[in-house]
Amino acid sequence: MYYGIDIGGTTAKIGCFKDDKLIKSWIIDMRVNTVDEMVLNIINSIKANDDNVLGIGLDCPGFIVNDQVITSPNLHFLDGINLKQAFLKHIDTKVKVINDANCHALGEAIYNKLDNIVFITLGTGVGGGYIVDGKVFEGFNGAFMEIGHMHVDDFYNFRCGCGQVGCLETVCGQKGVINLVNYYKNKLNTKLELDYTVRDVFDLARVNDELAFKVFEVFTDKLGLALANTAILLNPKTIIIGGGISKAGDFLLNAIKRNFTKYACQSVVNTDIILASLGNDAGMYGAYYLVK
Ligand SMILES: [Zn+2]
Repeated sequence: MYYGIDIGGTTAKIGCFKDDKLIKSWIIDMRVNTVDEMVLNIINSIKANDDNVLGIGLDCPGFIVNDQVITSPNLHFLDGINLKQAFLKHIDTKVKVINDANCHALGEAIYNKLDNIVFITLGTGVGGGYIVDGKVFEGFNGAFMEIGHMHVDDFYNFRCGCGQVGCLETVCGQKGVINLVNYYKNKLNTKLELDYTVRDVFDLARVNDELAFKVFEVFTDKLGLALANTAILLNPKTIIIGGGISKAGDFLLNAIKRNFTKYACQSVVNTDIILASLGNDAGMYGAYYLVK
């Protein structure tokens, strides 16, 4: 059978596919220190399930070009490693590796029978992918569609993990919400408790809590700006919003659409904007489609 594997910072999700259907999935621990340890953990886990592995597709956080990890911020032992070759040392099958956001994009596009899409993932940070003719674009050094680092802000000037200030993910995604709450918490009235989640902030925004609503407003305004800029560059048919935060549903989607319209040029203003449908399984599906 085919395997689609979504590698995260601490766990990997392994999906087993038969006739285009995810028939079984499980999670393995990824707290390892070497490439071989990681590769063997995954291979042993697959072989315990199946002795006829037809192919393994993998996604991994970081900058990746042609199966080669350039850098991976959370899995530094993979820096400079050709992950495909690392697998082929231990198993004789088809192997393909891409960046996680690109992989989620591919999963959502093919599963939903959509093409010419931009995919945005709103998680801890903000990532993205672009799919045309079922193909993933990686760019010269794997930075294609790293929309989280598009410059959108000159007011707050929060420092980004990339070293710059004003990147989209400093005001959007989970990191952005934390930055904005910290910025406004002494200035605006709020019922927000100390150990809040992004969900709490959005729930309070719905009932017009002053602080939460301000954070929500900045978040969706900057995302609308980034998406309008992306739409005029790439002219996709559809923009798909995924990632954990996208569970906020229509409340979030409608605000994104409103802000997109505010910034979008006439020729792209009718771009479809929809929520992702595969949730946490998008990476496994994308990795499967990639290798299949
Ligand atoms: Zn940045």
